[in-house]
Amino acid sequence: MQLPSLKLYNTLSRTKETFTPLEPPFVGLYVCGPTVYGHAHLGHARPYVTFDVLIRYLETIGYKVRYVRNITDVGHLQNDADEGEDKIAKQAKLERLEPMEVVQTYTNSFRADMLALNNRPPSIEPVATGHIVEQIALTQTIIDEGYGYESNGSVYFDYEKYAAEGKFGRLSGRIFEDAQAGSRDLDGQSEKRNPQDFALWKKAAPEHIMYWPSPWGNGFPGWHLECSAMSAKYLGKVFDIHGGGMDLLFPHHECEIAQHTAATGENPAKFWMHVNMLTMNGQKMGKSLGNAISLKEFFNGSHPLLEEAYSPMTIRYFILQAQYRSTLDFSNEALQAARKGYRRLMNGLQASKLLVYAKESEVAFSEKADEEVKKLVADSYEALSDDLNTAMVIANLFGMLKKINQFQLKPAETASISEATFDLLVEHYEKIVVGILGLKEEDKADNGELIKTILEFYKDAKEAKDYAKIDSIRAKLKAQGIAVKDMKTGITWAWEE
Ligand code: ZN
Repeated sequence: MQLPSLKLYNTLSRTKETFTPLEPPFVGLYVCGPTVYGHAHLGHARPYVTFDVLIRYLETIGYKVRYVRNITDVGHLQNDADEGEDKIAKQAKLERLEPMEVVQTYTNSFRADMLALNNRPPSIEPVATGHIVEQIALTQTIIDEGYGYESNGSVYFDYEKYAAEGKFGRLSGRIFEDAQAGSRDLDGQSEKRNPQDFALWKKAAPEHIMYWPSPWGNGFPGWHLECSAMSAKYLGKVFDIHGGGMDLLFPHHECEIAQHTAATGENPAKFWMHVNMLTMNGQKMGKSLGNAISLKEFFNGSHPLLEEAYSPMTIRYFILQAQYRSTLDFSNEALQAARKGYRRLMNGLQASKLLVYAKESEVAFSEKADEEVKKLVADSYEALSDDLNTAMVIANLFGMLKKINQFQLKPAETASISEATFDLLVEHYEKIVVGILGLKEEDKADNGELIKTILEFYKDAKEAKDYAKIDSIRAKLKAQGIAVKDMKTGITWAWEE
């Protein structure tokens, strides 16, 4: 099947552009990772699920993706500002832990959540504290190029000089207003030539516990600088795609572009992709807003705003129901509907695997039915290639599902389409649902309860002295690694040893 060429919305040009890698078949993708000072929220899940689908689709169309997603373990200060406490150091004090214990705890937690959502792990997962040398070197280059200056042990980016050249705000159209949000600390301000200048390297205050030696004294890197240093190290001076959540567009990504352009003269990425925010009753979700629900709380239903637990695949399906640039509003009703939709797609998968094409059938071939199925498959790929329109993909999958259900009820009707079209339907339904959208079966039933039910039948067979049935049940359970324990005290089971 000839797949359509991939078009992606590029925040840089504000249009959909046909995507072609700089060096096919390789695609360099950098996605800003989490600052690991707490469990991941539903808001975190959306960008990472989106980029996972992008990677799966890029691979489907024949590319090899180098996916770099960092872990921010230092330098991200409160309110994303230049002054204030480091988010991780603050959490460490709160939990009475070493900062690196906080980092390890929440990195483990984040990876487990991503795995539960069936997101592939990144090819490279660099951590900021592991790349201090590269960040110092980049800071020095920016100084050497005339866009950075040292002041009282800190190094700042000369925003005014850079902005005067008309280079700032390429992504968002936004520039810094009179003062950066959050950086109201007077000490910090007085060090800067202009209040809009942002930190590349910060001098460590005496109470600061995470710092490294540098040419400017003991300090730590600025949050924006980390991504510039790590993306360039692993993907080169110019790479294919840089992505993240919409909240990173300004100032984080604008500052990344400024730093990289100041150092190299080039914008680091050809494509910039931004995933829209998730809202709750129309309101942004976030830790600071008090309505952030962690993924773990979704998975076990423990948060008071949740009516019940929602499985990782329900969450994944919920996210995929909307195209990534549109808004998505969370509610219990929406998640319950998502679970229904997810289960219907999974039931279709089981049904499709059992379908057999009726070679001998009284049902006549119908050109119209055949074309309809071919169109549903083709339209699914059209939707995928149209800036990952997963909402449209799911609509087409439900069209395919209708056919699958029809064929399950009336196998003779498979003959209304050609065998080739029938194979196309079965093959691509699975390929899109499992391979590209990344939805997988989840264990819904309790194994212990299922075995108990089977042992009821065993008991019935024993009472009826149906030894053939008893042997058959024993053998089938044994094949699953389960031994029937028929003892005087009752019938129970154990794992085969
Ligand atoms: Zn970043």
